[in-house]
Formats: sequence, C-alpha cells, structure tokens
Amino acid sequence: MSTQKGKINVNTENIFPIIKKFLYSDHEIFLRELVSNAVDATQKVKKLASSGELKEELGDIAVEIKVNKEEKTVTISDKGIGMTAEEIEKYINQVAFSSAEEFIEKFKNVDGGINIIGHFGLGFYSAFMVSEKVEIISKSFKNEPAVKWSCDGSPEFEMSSSDKIERGTDIILHISEESIEFADENKIGDLLNKYCKFLPIPIKFGQEEITEKDAEDKEIKVKKDRIINNPTPAWTLAPADLKDEDYLNFYRELYPFTEDPLFWIHLNVDFPFKLTGILYFPKLKKTYEVQKNKIQLYSNQVFVTDNVEQIVPEYLMMMHGVLDSPDIPLNVSRSYLQSDSNVKKITAHISKKVADKLGDLFKNDRTSYDSKWESIGLFVKYGMISDDKFYDRAKDFCLYQNIEKKLFTLEAYKLQIEALQLDKNGKIVVLYSTDQESQDAYIQGATKKGYDVLLFDEMIDQHFIQHMESKNGDYKFSRVDADTFDKMIEKDETLISVLSSEEEEALKKVFQENVPTEGVHVELKALSPDDMPVMITKNEFMRRMADMSKLGGGGMYSFMGNMPESFNLVVNTNHPIASKLLQATDKVEMIKNLYDLALLQQGMLKGSHLTAFINRSVESI
Ligand code: ADP
Repeated sequence: MSTQKGKINVNTENIFPIIKKFLYSDHEIFLRELVSNAVDATQKVKKLASSGELKEELGDIAVEIKVNKEEKTVTISDKGIGMTAEEIEKYINQVAFSSAEEFIEKFKNVDGGINIIGHFGLGFYSAFMVSEKVEIISKSFKNEPAVKWSCDGSPEFEMSSSDKIERGTDIILHISEESIEFADENKIGDLLNKYCKFLPIPIKFGQEEITEKDAEDKEIKVKKDRIINNPTPAWTLAPADLKDEDYLNFYRELYPFTEDPLFWIHLNVDFPFKLTGILYFPKLKKTYEVQKNKIQLYSNQVFVTDNVEQIVPEYLMMMHGVLDSPDIPLNVSRSYLQSDSNVKKITAHISKKVADKLGDLFKNDRTSYDSKWESIGLFVKYGMISDDKFYDRAKDFCLYQNIEKKLFTLEAYKLQIEALQLDKNGKIVVLYSTDQESQDAYIQGATKKGYDVLLFDEMIDQHFIQHMESKNGDYKFSRVDADTFDKMIEKDETLISVLSSEEEEALKKVFQENVPTEGVHVELKALSPDDMPVMITKNEFMRRMADMSKLGGGGMYSFMGNMPESFNLVVNTNHPIASKLLQATDKVEMIKNLYDLALLQQGMLKGSHLTAFINRSVESI
C-alpha cells in the first residue's frame, strides 16, 4: 500500500485544543481508555479462538505497556484482533473522531465544562490529550497486510503499510512537551496500578527479578516480565467458589495494612441492571471519621472512580470494597446521576442487601452480632435516620446499650422498663446519658430508683433520638438530668411534702432572692429524702435545641446561638436540709453553697466561681 493522506471527517478546523481544554483535569484517563481498548480487542480474539474462527494459535495474549523516556513515547501493545486498513478508516477516522466532535458539540456551552467528569468513554481519541503524535500499527487476525496510521493532532492523518507480522495492535504515543510527566515509568506504573489492577487480561509492565531453581537445583535469579494486575479478582468469581479466606485476602489486596473487616456482602445482580461487587464492613472505632472514598467503582473491571458519593447512599459510604457495573452512566455530571433510574435501583438494591445481611447475622448469630455492635451501631443508626426503607428493615435489629453495657432491641427494652418508667401521659420514658462520667450523679439518682439508663454518647445519637421519637409516638427520650426525670413515676408524685405551704413559700422566696434571676427557675419538689437537696434539671427540648445550635446545626437552631443557658433549680422539700435551712441564720451562705454544689454536679461551676467555691471549702475545713 502506498502512503495515503486524508482528512479526518470533522467540521471543526482543529478540535484538539478544545478537547484538551475540556479534559484538563483528567488527562491521565488516556491510559485507562487505551488499555481498555487493548483488553477489548484481546477478549474478542479469545472468543474467536474458542469458537474455532481463529486460524492461528492464540499464543501469549498479555497486553504490554512500555515507556521510552529518551524517545518520549508510551506504547500500548496487544495481541488482539487488530484492525485492517478499512477498519481503521471506519473506526478511527470516522467513528472515533465524529463521536469526539459530538462530545464537543454537547458540552461546549456547559458552564464549567472542565468539571464534567472525565469518564465519557472518549476512547482512542483521548490519546491526543497527552500526545503530539499518535501512531497505530496494526495487523488484523484476518489475512490482510498490516497498517500504519499516524496523526499529529491536526485533522490530517497518514496511512501506509507496515511490516508488522504478529497479530495485534501497537498504539505509540509521542508524548507532547506539556504532558511530559507521562513519559515516565513511575508515573505510568502508578496509573496502571490505579486503573488497570483488575483488568481481565494480564497486563505486562516492566520486569522483575525472581529466584528460580536451575537444572542442578541451584538457585538462580532470572528476569521476567512483570504482570501488574489480578485478572480474576474475587468479585468476578461465583460466591460458591470462594472461602472466607479468599474474601479476606482480597480485602487485604485492596487495603493493605488495614484491620480485617467484620463481614462482607457479595453482590451479584444480572437483571434489571448488572452489578457485581463485594462490600466489606470495616471495624469502626468510636472516634471514627467517616472514611469516604473507600469504595471503588469499576466498569467491567476497569477502575472508574473512588468517588461514589451519588451512587452509594451516604450511610453506606462507611463500607469498603468494590462495585462493578457497566450500567452506571459514566459520561454525565454528578447531579444527573442522582436522578438516573439505574443508579436509583442500584442504590436501593445495595441498601436492601446490607439490611438483609445485618438481619441474618442478628437472627442466626446473635452473639457475634452483639459483639460487633460497636461498629455496626453507628452505621445502622445513620441508615435509619437517612433512609426510611432501611429504617423499616433495621428497626428490629437496632440495639440499645445501657450503662451496664447490656444490649437490647427496642421491643425487649420496652418490656424491661415499661413497668416503672412511664410518665403521666402513659408514654414510656427512656432515660439516657450522653456522658457517663459527667452525668454520674444523675445516673446514680436514677438507678437508685430502679430506672434503667441508656448510653447515647455518640455524635449521631442526638439525631437518632429525635428520629426515634418522631417514629415512635409512645416513647419519650429524656436525658438523665432532664426535668421529666422526677415527674416520671406515680410513686414519686405521691410523695407528700413535709413542709407546710407557708414554709414552702418562704423557702422558694429565699432561694429566688439568692440565686441569679436570669435563666434560673426555682422549683420546689417533694422528692425522696435520699435525693439531692438541690439539683439542676434542664428542659429536654430547650437543651436539645441549644446542643444542636452548638453543633452548628445552623438553620432553624441558629437563633439559639445567643440565648443564655436556662435551667431549673429543683429544691427537694423532703430533704432534711430544707427544714434546716428555714431555721438557719446563715441562709444566704447555705444557699450559696447548695447552689454551687448543684452547679458543680452538672459541671457548670467554672472559672472564678469555681475558685471562690474551692477557697470557701478550704476555709471551712
Ligand atoms: P470505543 O472503544 O468506545 O468503541 P474508541 O474510540 O476507543 O471507542 O475505539 C473505536 C474503535 O476502534 C473500537 O470500537 C475498536 O473497534 C477500534 N479499536 C480501538 N483500539 C483498538 C485495538 N487496540 N485493537 C483493535 N481495535 C481497536
């Protein structure tokens, strides 16, 4: 064939500068695209071989990538089906280029076009993002001469014959000066490791030295081509063929130096969408930080992204592992993904599978489930808050831990407490502590009465409590220091004050006169003589609002930001000190001490007030 010149069939005079601009942030995907093409061509030839259509030996079918730093080239070679001159004309000159043009048409008016994710399957064309010249040397499996095609980034190309004998295609990229970082072994190695680690055809890159035994059984070092990928990762195999150890090994391959996961879910859906993958449930620590970007998204074993935010529900982002689906559209913006029906179905499917797995564990291995609750709990609560369907599935296996570290389902807990912990309206009062240390006095007060106290000491718990209340009208959640605590039980309500109403009035007055007026609401209560003489309780609702605003809840709570703290000062009329105080001559001093003690118990005595209190106490010793 004599050298042919031609003009690529595009209207735009020179589309490369435009494409380069659009793809600026994602230049590196050229390698993924070209290696994927090489893998596709290889899989096609494998198919031909197995159906008997290939006339020659299949031979070694590994794809090979080479970097030549001096010549500034990167070469991707495959032994796939190859292309005839006619096919290059059709697939490269016409199809590939016209689809590139279409792409530009579509996106040139999009605001911030550069932010469009780079995964639009531009294929072969992406080679020009990093190259000043691209050559294709290809020999088809069909009995036709080999071809050489080259193009320097203008719409003009050259085609001539080549003396290539072996079947397959070499794509030679002459890396441009501005992308020179890609003409480097380490850089290409990194990219292969990122995008090609699990491609289904062996990928050769560089060499490695391994030790072998020679004929005389002596150890010798030999250089061998290095295969950088695992062509059959666990998620592509049938669950029945995998043992626990295989799943764990795959996890270690994905996340070296990480603690083993708690359990995993092997996803395998064919219809109505294709989805495979393994999601691992990691061990989460109490002081966790949401570790996003741990789930990797693949499309037919080609790495696409580790930013799966719109595909995996937020609460599932704590999971690790791999999802592989050719049905997740990769060529559109993220906001579009959320409304894509396949993405919605995939999300719902994953959520259901996760709930099923947790439900099975709960039913079939309660001991193990309980022991993992510390890690699972956070995630279950998060899921229940953010996804109603998940809530419905999880409500029966969501556990509640009390301060003695016992775990209950809500049903079981109800049975445990409903005899004692009812309020006047017949609601079941769930007492909880957000901090076992600082709320100890209140916890002791509650347990002395036979109440149970749950521990809700994680960030998510405030939201979780709110959510549980909205879903379960017959429960009321009150922190141990809340003002509902002493109203709860009839038994206490029937306690009669030992003071007369005149005495009570006098007591209230003297307290009101000697504690700050702002934010302190003095209240007399006929509690048991064993209870504290004076204590601080807080309105559950107001306290929650204040906590939320402190957490930066913003929006509806932000108005709370400047509100002074307000609380009840509960004076126990049945405590011997109450009667004593009425007779005392140093009432002011006594009230000051009682008030400070109540503040101290709540951890509210601070700064110069605390110092003054300590000094007074020291003097009185
Ligand atoms: P896509 O892969 O999405 O079809 P590309 O632009 O990547 O688009 O490639 C266009 C076509 O060129 C492919 O469909 C294929 O027919 C052909 N092709 C590309 N690379 C190779 C290769 N290494 N071996 C054989 N054919 C190839």
